[in-house]
Amino acid sequence: MRKETILLYSTYLKHRFGGRVHKISVDAGFGCPNRSNGRAGHGCVFCDSSGSAAVGIARQVGIAQQLEQAQELMRRKYRAKWFIAYFQPYSNTFAPPAQLRHCYDQALAVNNVVGLAVGTRPDCVDDAVLDLLAEYHRRTYFWLEIGLQSCHDRTLNYLRRGHDYACFLDAYQRAKERGLRVCVHLIIGLPGESRDDILHTAREMARLGVDGIKLHLLHVLQGTPLGDSFLAGEVKTLGMDDYVQLVVDVLECLPPHTLIQRLTGDGPRELLLAPLWSLNKWEVLNAIGAELERRRTRQGSHYPGTISRTCDV
Ligand code: SF4
Repeated sequence: MRKETILLYSTYLKHRFGGRVHKISVDAGFGCPNRSNGRAGHGCVFCDSSGSAAVGIARQVGIAQQLEQAQELMRRKYRAKWFIAYFQPYSNTFAPPAQLRHCYDQALAVNNVVGLAVGTRPDCVDDAVLDLLAEYHRRTYFWLEIGLQSCHDRTLNYLRRGHDYACFLDAYQRAKERGLRVCVHLIIGLPGESRDDILHTAREMARLGVDGIKLHLLHVLQGTPLGDSFLAGEVKTLGMDDYVQLVVDVLECLPPHTLIQRLTGDGPRELLLAPLWSLNKWEVLNAIGAELERRRTRQGSHYPGTISRTCDV
């Protein structure tokens, strides 16, 4: 993929820090308000019992140890020099501020950790939590990652997200009032969404001028309500070519200054029901690059104008 066609987060981090920076997913043991009993029970229809965790998190050890173990691996594999601790599975603001501070501080105390990213839900960031996150924004390189998936309330209802788009807008606005960098997670290929629906969500993100975007492909996992619907023939997933076309359509709508933090996803191989082509992540990324070339297009080519920024990424 020609780097100049997309503002890739990995490239940006390399420039900003002067060397390779990798994110390490950390499980601090938080639950999710959208699941009964924190981690048990069903929440969003697509979410498995791991709380949408990355593959390979060493959950059985403490935060510092998780980071140290993963650093070793990433140094050898990618020659990474610095690391961002990514509080990823479930909802990483779902605890009293003092407990959150204790966890975030443990991560920041680990050698070579140069920043934090905290993933959560829009209904899990009250003012006290955002005030705490703003402290970290001043102290370190900090990202708040908010799962939205779609701006359409009918889709959010179907997904059993437990919040609507207005809830996201409120959380987003309060985060930006505090100067936080915000990365929004979207899913492409959600049941019932047309290309126009997907592009409407992309244009909404462009209108807001979000600092970062993660694009996820809808994965259907065993043991989820979505998996049951898929096995009953009620849900279809995208083909690879359709996904590639939609990703490039979305990229064209986004502002040129939005950092693209993810272009696809990798679900756990042993649980993945569909689409199986997504297991070949490099093939998908190469196809997105090839489609950008074929169209002679780039991120932001359909973006109408400049929106003022509220923080410097
Ligand atoms: S909010 Fe996140 S952790 Fe909670 S059920 Fe939904 S996807 Fe899973």
